[in-house]
Amino acid sequence: MTDLRQEAEAIADQFSEHLDIDVDEVEARLDTLVSEYKIPVEEARRSVTNHYLEEADMDRNELGRGGNAEVELAEIDAAEQWVDLTTKVIDLWEPRSDSIAQVGLLGDASGRMKFTKWAKSELPELDEGGVYRLENVVTDEYQGQYSVKLNRTTTITELDEELEVGDDTTEIEGALVDIQSGSGLIKRCPEEGCTRVLQNGRCSEHGEGEGEFDLRIKGVLDDGREIQEVIFNQEATEDVAGIGLEEAKQMAMDALDTTVVADEIRAKILGQYYRVTGPTFGRYVLADEVEELGGPADAEETLIKARSI
Ligand SMILES: [Zn+2]
Repeated sequence: MTDLRQEAEAIADQFSEHLDIDVDEVEARLDTLVSEYKIPVEEARRSVTNHYLEEADMDRNELGRGGNAEVELAEIDAAEQWVDLTTKVIDLWEPRSDSIAQVGLLGDASGRMKFTKWAKSELPELDEGGVYRLENVVTDEYQGQYSVKLNRTTTITELDEELEVGDDTTEIEGALVDIQSGSGLIKRCPEEGCTRVLQNGRCSEHGEGEGEFDLRIKGVLDDGREIQEVIFNQEATEDVAGIGLEEAKQMAMDALDTTVVADEIRAKILGQYYRVTGPTFGRYVLADEVEELGGPADAEETLIKARSI
C-alpha cells in the first residue's frame, strides 16, 4: 500500500461517523496536491482534512475520536498503526532537529516507548511526569524497535490521575564474546527524526549525507547457557572502554580510518564479564547500567566457547 493510500484511509477513518467518504476520492485529492502541486504530504493531509471538516461542518477538535484501538504500549507490534494511548511522560530528551518539538519516553503499566512530536503539528506541550490520553498517534518501527509519532491529527488530553509505569528492565550477566560490525565510531543521519546509522556515508532512507558522529557497541553477552545481544550507547561505551567521543574522533583522524576505534574497543573489553541492566528493545537489551564483574577474563577460552555457538 502506498503512503498516500494509508493517509487517505486514515483521513476517511476519522470522518467515518460523520460523512460517507470514498477513500479513492480522498487519495485522489491528496495525490493532486502532492504530485501536481508538490505540496508536502503533511500539508496535503491538513488541507484535505480541512476540506472534509468544512463539508461536515465540524471543528478540528471533534476529530480523532473513536475508530482507533486503545492499546497498551507493549501491545504495539507493527508500524503504521493508528492507535489511542493512555500514558505517562517519563522522560523528555533534547530534540536533535528543529523539526522535532518534543521527543522522549512514554510509559504505561505494560512498558515504555519512545515518542516523537513534530514541530509542524503545533500540538500543546507535554510535561514530564504528566499523564495524558493521546488519540490518533501512529506507530513506527526501526530495527525491531517501536515508537509512536504525534502528528497534526493527534489530540492530547491531560488527565488528572496517576499512572503506574511497568518496569520492563532486564538484568543479564555474562562474558562479552563478540563485538558486531556497526560498533565503534559511527555516523548517524542528521535528517529530522532519523537516527539511522550511515552505511558508507549513506542513509538507507535519505541517501548521502554529512552525518553526526556517535559512539556505540553492539555486543553479544554469553552467560554460559544462552547469548543476548546488547547495545551500549555513547555513555556506556565510554564507561566500559574508557574512550570518549572526542578521543575516538581524534584516533580516527590520526589513523585516517574510523575502524581503529572498534579495534581499540575490542582489544579492551572482549572477554570481560559484565552485568548489564536496561530495557529490551527488539532483540537487544539497551545498556542503561553496566557493571564490570571480576569473573574469568580469559578471552581465548571465551572465544573458543563463542565459536562453538
Ligand atoms: Zn536518514
